[in-house]
Amino acid sequence: MDSKERIAAALKVATDTKVFEMGQGILPKVPEVFQQLFPGRKAVIIADINTWPACGEAVYALMTGAGIPTEKYIIDKEEFHAEWRYIEMADKILDGDMAAAKRIEDDPDYTETPAEKCFREASDAYPIAVSVGAGVINDICKLTSHHHRQGYLCVATAASVDGFSSFGASITYQNAKQTFECPAPTGIIADVDVLVAAPRWMVASGYADLAAKVPAGAEWMIADLMGTEPIIPAAWDVLYPNLHKYLGNPEGIAALDPQAVADIFEGLTMSGFAMQAARSSRPASCCEHLFSHILDMTHHRFHGKLQSHGIQVAVGTLTMCAVFDEFFRFDLSKLDPDACAAAWPTIDQEQMRAIEIFRTFPAPKLGYTEITKKYNDARTVREQVAKVKEVWPAFKQKLQAQLWSFEKMRKCFGIVGAPTDPSDIGVTRHMLHDMFERVQLMRWRFNVLDLAKRGRFYDELVNAVFLPGHAWDINEEQPFK
Ligand SMILES: [Zn+2]
Repeated sequence: MDSKERIAAALKVATDTKVFEMGQGILPKVPEVFQQLFPGRKAVIIADINTWPACGEAVYALMTGAGIPTEKYIIDKEEFHAEWRYIEMADKILDGDMAAAKRIEDDPDYTETPAEKCFREASDAYPIAVSVGAGVINDICKLTSHHHRQGYLCVATAASVDGFSSFGASITYQNAKQTFECPAPTGIIADVDVLVAAPRWMVASGYADLAAKVPAGAEWMIADLMGTEPIIPAAWDVLYPNLHKYLGNPEGIAALDPQAVADIFEGLTMSGFAMQAARSSRPASCCEHLFSHILDMTHHRFHGKLQSHGIQVAVGTLTMCAVFDEFFRFDLSKLDPDACAAAWPTIDQEQMRAIEIFRTFPAPKLGYTEITKKYNDARTVREQVAKVKEVWPAFKQKLQAQLWSFEKMRKCFGIVGAPTDPSDIGVTRHMLHDMFERVQLMRWRFNVLDLAKRGRFYDELVNAVFLPGHAWDINEEQPFK
């Protein structure tokens, strides 16, 4: 299958997205696609001070030139994360109240309106959002369009994240990074000439967000084996058979070769389609993303700057590749299911542990809530351990076929210009080590650390990553540059 055939096949399993156009010089298709998807509707372009000159202005000219009533709103911030404030700002933009939107954007005393109160009655009077940007602007447009019970058009400005086509928006609300369920864009347009012209770190960031699917896919395979979240073939097949191919030309990314950048954007979009098919981010995200979520929730900055999603996920991805390198050294066929079940903590003990670990965290109840959802009783744990013991040598081989080693991943990240060490984003190896307990507990999904907890080798596994001569040798902290 070539790219066009793969995209056509993927659109069949994508439940929300009707049109996905990618190619060099295709920006002039924007008005035609808009009119096809939203006949007779007005538009509002939502951009920021970087994406407006990059392509928003051109889209505005094309839309108005085609006779489509179009307004614009340019977020006047050098940097911003996907926080609830911007959802409420965008809600006002779609309501048609630009002044109120601006007040929310700049309000020093801003307080969050409860999420459930942000929904509107559907109306043809609202303009359709045309998001011109990368991950954050797209997520904002996605959720505000859902609040208005309508679709939107995404014009991508960088191959930087997989959120363009995903079901759900990842937003910080009540101090916690949360995924709000909402439909993916109705249409996506990616002009490869625009993607190639984006700042170089953005495609490195997208490469890393796509590479995150290497360990995330392995963790989904584990959850499937454990019976907690079975693999959904329609979601798996849209992304995973081609994942290694999409990632296979880091030199092309470094050279900003249009085909290599297009491959990354296609892979990222397929990942979003997989999430649409699964109605969940399970196909695209596991522990490697949680390191990034912790950094977001603790407002981590390096040299005074927020670090982008993919750049943070790069460090999580390297870390999880290192975890799997160590994981494969354990012989799980030697596990003792009875002993594992006998040693298994009660739900009360797990809840207490979660409360203790999250006591000083901005979302102190998060671990408690999530472990309560994912707790399995001792009898189930016995069955889970027996299952992995039974299939071990063969299952290990399947996981190894999915995984890349830490060294291979780090080499590719070095080539594309993604982080190769936690110090690159202002994180020490000690900090990374201390994040593990929160990572294990902070999302209800089954992960490789949960398996290690059941098999009673969690501490040994995590500590191995930081041993002398191993991936993040704790005595070899790298200086911040
Ligand atoms: Zn991601």
